[in-house]
Amino acid sequence: MEKTLKERVRDYGNRPKRSLGQVFLIEPSVQAKILEMAELDSGDTVVEIGPGTGALTRDMLRRVKRLIALEIDPDLVSFLRESMRNSPGFHLLCADALRFDYERAAAVLRTRLKLVANLPYVISAPMIFTLIDQRRAFSLLILMLQKEVAQRLTAAVGTKQYGKLSVFCRVYFHLHLERQVPKTCFHPVPKVDSAVLRFIPRERPLLPEQAEAAFRELVRAAFSKRRKTLFNALRTSLRAGISEEGLRNMLEACDIDPRRRPETLSAEEYVRMALHLRERPPV
Ligand code: SAM
Repeated sequence: MEKTLKERVRDYGNRPKRSLGQVFLIEPSVQAKILEMAELDSGDTVVEIGPGTGALTRDMLRRVKRLIALEIDPDLVSFLRESMRNSPGFHLLCADALRFDYERAAAVLRTRLKLVANLPYVISAPMIFTLIDQRRAFSLLILMLQKEVAQRLTAAVGTKQYGKLSVFCRVYFHLHLERQVPKTCFHPVPKVDSAVLRFIPRERPLLPEQAEAAFRELVRAAFSKRRKTLFNALRTSLRAGISEEGLRNMLEACDIDPRRRPETLSAEEYVRMALHLRERPPV
């Protein structure tokens, strides 16, 4: 008989490593929901970040052509190698998901990848920036994240949670919060709840590629001083060489009130400023 998720964790037997964000999924209905959201097809190539004891891995593997699993912990890699040997299409790498070249993998395999992960909370923010950078590799991303990070990603403009991460993600992806997951669905029980998000890459990002550098600089500068007005935040944090007058002119040309706070601007408004900054750099 097929083992339960709890039994797999028990079989593994080692103490979970907090430093690697090891909290293992033990609730089958959450596993089923994630698989349903991934809309797996027999022709798919899936990349899973952090397979752990294989809670999602085994069931995905039955449904797809190829599954590349990136696990940083050698103890878990040995466990999976042993318990999943003879699984055709399974490619398990002992690797850091932050350093993996997803775009190259997609190019070599001549397919866009589906990414599925119960992300370790310790790397969630840098991982999201890595996935944004390598977004061309993916057709769909299903990520389980800490609830607080999920709320930041999907936050409405003007709210406390709305920030850099929300603006960056919105430019490149359609985002949907699909399910809240109570902390009791994991072993060991973490401090906070989680949520599952679906990221669908936009066919046409809101931002032309040529304006990406300007956009990143602007958003970083604006949110580095969230308590200030947009004008003051940009004046102190934007790259050197822009005069106050140049900045004022730019905001006026973009029809943006300099007294607004950084968190009240939509992604589209940041894009508008980035395009202006690129085409007519103020002096
Ligand atoms: N997928 C499993 C599940 O749902 O039960 C485990 C999820 S657990 C939250 C996160 C997993 O990511 C752990 O197995 C951990 O060892 C692994 N991990 C942590 N940092 C990693 C990294 N930088 N690259 C790859 N895997 C990582």
